[in-house]
This record gives sequence, structure tokens and C-alpha cells, in this order.
Amino acid sequence: MKNDITETTPITSWLPITMKDAKKKGWDELDVILITGDAYVDHPAFGAAVIGRIIESYGLRVAIIPQPNWQDDLRDFKKFGKPKLFFGVTAGNMDSMVNKYTAAKRKRHNDSYTPGGDTNFRPDYASVEYTKILKNLYPDVPIMMGGIEGSLRRVTHYDYWQDKLMPNILTQSGADLLIYGMGEQPLRDMIKLLKKGVPFSSLNNINQCAFLQDASADLPKVNKWKTFKLASHDECLNNKKAYARNFRFIETESNKQNARRLTQVIGDKVLVINPPYKVMTEKEVDASFDLPYTRQPHPKYKKRGAIPAYDMIKFSVNMHRGCFGGCTFCTISAHQGKLIASRSKESIMKEVDRMTEQPDFKGYLSDLGGPSANMYQMKGIDQKMCDNCSLPSCVFPKICTNLDTDPSKMLDIYREVNSNPKIKKAFVGSGLRYDLMFDPDSTHKKKDEQYVEQLITHHVSGRLKVAPEHTEDHVLEMMRKPSFKYFKIFKDKFDEVCAKKNLNQEIIPYFISSHPACRPEDMAALAVKTKKLGYKLEQIQDFTPTPMTMATVVYYSGYNPYSMEKVKTAISYDEKSKQRKFFFWYKEENKNFIKNSLAKIKRFDISKDLFGA
Ligand code: SF4
Repeated sequence: MKNDITETTPITSWLPITMKDAKKKGWDELDVILITGDAYVDHPAFGAAVIGRIIESYGLRVAIIPQPNWQDDLRDFKKFGKPKLFFGVTAGNMDSMVNKYTAAKRKRHNDSYTPGGDTNFRPDYASVEYTKILKNLYPDVPIMMGGIEGSLRRVTHYDYWQDKLMPNILTQSGADLLIYGMGEQPLRDMIKLLKKGVPFSSLNNINQCAFLQDASADLPKVNKWKTFKLASHDECLNNKKAYARNFRFIETESNKQNARRLTQVIGDKVLVINPPYKVMTEKEVDASFDLPYTRQPHPKYKKRGAIPAYDMIKFSVNMHRGCFGGCTFCTISAHQGKLIASRSKESIMKEVDRMTEQPDFKGYLSDLGGPSANMYQMKGIDQKMCDNCSLPSCVFPKICTNLDTDPSKMLDIYREVNSNPKIKKAFVGSGLRYDLMFDPDSTHKKKDEQYVEQLITHHVSGRLKVAPEHTEDHVLEMMRKPSFKYFKIFKDKFDEVCAKKNLNQEIIPYFISSHPACRPEDMAALAVKTKKLGYKLEQIQDFTPTPMTMATVVYYSGYNPYSMEKVKTAISYDEKSKQRKFFFWYKEENKNFIKNSLAKIKRFDISKDLFGA
């Protein structure tokens, strides 16, 4: 394997995962040990690598224990001994329950973050499991928890897999401190304080951290912070409306640039959630991406097979963080923030250049993207307005007049990447917000058009994934998604450009069934509308209630947390599978069921549209 980068790169280029690796770096002990539920891929798309590299950049000795065995004599947890400062625990890039189970609560056949896709390398509720083990082994070593699982379970939340409300993750696990959201800013401040000799137990006034304290004790004094008290955990258990209302406050505060500190009583303790940091600057985001990653999985995985998530992103570039869409079934704004934190063009181009140097790069860049690919560099025209805004979305119900949606900077990057002689094709693989491209009130329609043309002509890999998610307005409203008419506008333009340029490519639309507010007749209408557009759907999914989304709150409580109106959701397996059948109206085995269901609600018109007379 002459061309394999891992053959030629010294092992000391990765962060150590064994004591032998650590010793090669000249380290006999560690300052920080990170435990993660994912395999260690030293790449900016993998959380533990980013956190490890940041800690390393402060001159600290940091090691990673990826996917420790939690079922044996716990030797993985003991292999480095105690760290001098703290343990960091994360379940990995995904919530461990979302990673392991389907919407039907069946075990998945594949784990994308494990070599060979093996599903036996992470426990359920990984961050709780790891923390409990560490607290048992090393009760005096502080534990900092981070990652999406900890972040989105930071307050009373509904757990779909146990079908009940669960307390915040600090109470469940015994961790000392939780960093929520993207960890860089709180981590940097934390490390600076620890290096100055501030004890871990005093790290309670850093933004974007949460901790537990005695309910009777005074809150740490931070003059600039106001505090808002959420309904207690017990109130939530006893009153679904109190739980739903809590969500509104949590979401509203997490969308503010000057948010309040939140507290929630749980037994004789109080959970304290410090306000988030303001959106990261370009310099700060660049600093995370420009760390000395090898961009490769650790060589120890070589014989265990490919890591699917790594294969997917190894030739892709993430241009920004955050999403201002505010879709109610999605956790991106809750975790990454509503406002967009973009990388500089220089940082992106440097990464593209580096990628082209990789021995196995064949000239195809799989994604020039982000959480929503076409939000790069988009922000408020008047930042002061955004500083005082608490709306959950900048584009729903309509595009905010203060949002600068000019795609020029994105276009510039697409064109420059295309002009790189080592790139044959650079695709946009991430999801797109097509409503941003066809805003009737846009002040830069020409540029919008240029962007759409460039995208369709040069950046589609044959099949472009887009996610209208539904066709019916009242369901889309519950999702905070744009009207289906924008999908049709986009599709018309797509078909027009493809015909003009003689391109053989297509749009693959994604849809969700059983979302809160979606009824069987809405699914029937979806079937008709997509049939009329010539689709036989493939990319569909059942709604999965994941922690800390508004849709999950509606699913469990039955209330819209903003209007407090009652909302119905398909809950039972039977209801959900009936909704799903409408996607596949064209399959013979579903025909009778759909005809009978429509007859029961006297929608012979829909039946006729689907099956003829
Ligand atoms: S003012 Fe407009 S652009 Fe700024 S955060 Fe609020 S909705 Fe978004």
C-alpha cells in the first residue's frame, strides 16, 4: 500500500490512543483524557478530534479513548490512569440512541462511526454509561461532558426509546460540568482558567456550560446575566403543558445573542444552564478547522474495515456552522446555533488544496457544504437587530427583511474551486434551502439566478437531494418549512437548466411521514402531488422524536409550545405504518388499503387521482 498516507505518517501525528503512543510523544502522564463513542478519526468533522486538537494547542497532553469496552474488566478506561486535569466524555457525533435504533425502535444494521459499520462498539446512552464507569473508577477526577447527546439532553427531555420524560443528563450521569452546543468557545475559556490554576469546581461562570448545585445555594454572581427559572423537573413530569412551555423558553433563549441564564429545580438540586456564547467569528471558526489534523482515521483501524461516516466526508468541505431554518424536527440550530458562523475563503481553499494532495483523491470533491449548503456567509444586514432577535427561524414564515441572502461569496468559492486544475468536479451534497434562491422580495435576483445556474450546471452529482419534507401547508407550517410551491419552482428551473445544457440529472426529494399535525389524508394529498410531478418516492422516513426538538415536544405533550394549541400526532405503530403506506401508493400490495382508507373519509377524488376511475 505505497500510496496509503497512514503508512508514511508517523504515529505521533495522531493524538495518542494508547500509553505506548503517548510515550512516543514523550508523555508519561496525561492532562486530559477524552472518551468517545465514535472511532477516532483525526478530522475536523469529528468532535473528539476537534476538542483534542484544541486542548493540544494549549500545550496540554491529551489522549483519546475511542469506543472503550464497557462490558469487560474496564481495562480501556484504565489504560492511561488518571488525567491531571479532567476526563472529557462524549457519546460521539450523534446521540447514541439515534445512532443505534431506527424510528421503529429496531436495532440498526450499521454504525456509521465504527470501522466496518460494526454495531457492537457503543453502549446505549453512551455518555451516561461512560461517565458512571469513570466516576466509579476515579471518583475524585472531574468529568466534563460534551457532544450532541449531552447537549440536547441538558434539561428535562422526552426519551422516545423509553417513552418517558428523563431528567437532565448531569443528574443521570454524575458528570461535573456539561458543555452544550459547539464546544470550542467554552473549552478555550475553560482551559485558560485551568492553566491559571483555577480549580475545576469553580468553572461555573463560563458561558455555554451547565452544572448542578444545591437548590438552596446562591447562584454564581455574574452581573451581566439575567436568570430565568424554568418549570421544575417534577412539574414537567406532572404537567405536559409545563414541559411544553419550558421548550419555548429554552429555544427562545438559545436563539438570542444576549440570552438569560436558565435554572431548573430537580429534587434538592438546581440545574444551572449558563447563556450561550455569541456566534463565533470567522477567525474563531477558522482556528478550529486549521488545526493540524492528519485528516485520517487512526491507523489501528486499518484491518477493521472502512468507517462509513469518514468515507462519506473524506473529500468534502464544511464551509460554515449553524442553520437559521429552524425546522422543528431538527436539532442543528439547537446544537450549532441559529446564526451562521462561516469560515474564511482562505481557510476553505487551504483545505481544498490539502485534500487534492491526498494520495487517494481522484479529482472529485463530494460536498462543498454545511448544515444547509446555501447559507454560507448569510447574516443580518443590521447585526444589532439580530442581537435583539429571538425568532426561531430567519426564513419562516417568510424570509426576514434583515437577512442578507446574497449568494455572491458562495458563488465565488464554487467558481474558484472549479478553476482548480486538480478538481474534476465539486458537488454540493448537503441539503439546500431552495426558498432562499427564489425569494420574490430579493434585492439581488440576478445573483440568485447565477447561483442557481452554477449549482445545477456544475455541482450536481447526477442526483440532487432536496428535502421538501411534505406537500401540505399546515404540516409544513408545523415543520417551519417553506410552501411546496417553492419545490415546484426549483424543480422547473432545474429541469429547464438541465434541458438547456443537456445534462442527465434529477432531483431526489425527501419526505417525512407521521410528523406532528400530519393526518392520513395529508399523506394521501402528498401521494397525489408527488405523483403528478412524476415521482415514485424512494427517500422517505418516519418522524423520529429526538431529544430537544419542538416536534418531539409536540409529539409527547400534544401541545404546540408557542400557541399552546392541541396538535395531533400519529403515535402507534399502526397509525405510523398506515401513513407510510401512502408513500408507496404505486405498490400493488398497498392499493386496497389506500382505496379503503380514502373511501372511509369519502375522498374518492384522491383515490381517482391515484388509481384512475
Ligand atoms: S433579525 Fe432577522 S435575520 Fe436577524 S436573527 Fe432575527 S430573523 Fe434572523
